Amino acid sequence: MTENEILTPAPPQVEEVSAGIFAYIQPDGTWFLNNAGFIVGPEGVIAIDSTSTARRARALFAALRRQTEKPVQVLVNTHSHGDHTWGNFVFAPNTAIVAHERCREEAIGSGTSAAALFPDVDWGEIRVTPPFVTFDERLTLYAGDLRIELHYLGPAHTTGDIVAWIPERKLLFAGDLIFNGGTPLAIGGTIAGWLEALGRLRSFGAESIVPGHGPVCGPEAIDAVERYLRFVQESARRGFEAGLEPLELARELDLGPFAELSDRERIVANLHRAYSELRGDPPAAPLDIRRVFAEMVAYNGGQPPHCFA
Ligand SMILES: [Zn+2]
Repeated sequence: MTENEILTPAPPQVEEVSAGIFAYIQPDGTWFLNNAGFIVGPEGVIAIDSTSTARRARALFAALRRQTEKPVQVLVNTHSHGDHTWGNFVFAPNTAIVAHERCREEAIGSGTSAAALFPDVDWGEIRVTPPFVTFDERLTLYAGDLRIELHYLGPAHTTGDIVAWIPERKLLFAGDLIFNGGTPLAIGGTIAGWLEALGRLRSFGAESIVPGHGPVCGPEAIDAVERYLRFVQESARRGFEAGLEPLELARELDLGPFAELSDRERIVANLHRAYSELRGDPPAAPLDIRRVFAEMVAYNGGQPPHCFA
């Protein structure tokens, strides 16, 4: 693809997914273009996730302010990755930032180091503003009378994944446990754990899901992520037994229906993760991120992954 053929994605969209509950959708859902959300209660706002670059974080905050002038009392981080947390600073210092304990550890441990993998992006003045209210298994927030249940489902996409379940509306903010239209990324998590988490996700009985990336969807998106993760696991088992390196295996693998997902090069990272599990490493054992990233670039024929952040 030449430079001219790369079209800039559409601007972010605010969608009222249930009365007073908004999804902030950033097309096209590829690298670092995540979704966020906000719930407007009688006294204040509960926000879910920030965004990656400083410019995008300010745009999120401005979109929130176009809906309400009420104070943002709480910001929930579904997990530590920079697309969901680096923009936290626009909410500081008057907002309680809530997440799983391991999300805080990862956010502090990784800092903004992943930004260097995408040198063409103007990240702006991002700074790590970690969650400072943490929990282990479950925490319930209230927007007036409306219950918002935070459930820990990790380790899965990362070690600290939580979801926000709003039972009264059968609405789930799934974070990156659900990618809709993009390739799931398990580089910092565990595929086996993620599959387990999907079973728990299904049991909520959600009718609407705000995924971490891609358009708002229904529970069928859970099945789609599961099919992809099982494909990765099964392919890895064959490649591992045949003595192939993850990149070699990725190059000869027919992605079939998954070739239509964006960010296909993530197959390389996902195979590295699956191999780690086949070797019996502990769940979410650290991978050599620079090597894995370089192999994704090699898989793309030398092109770095598209990042429109
Ligand atoms: Zn994400």
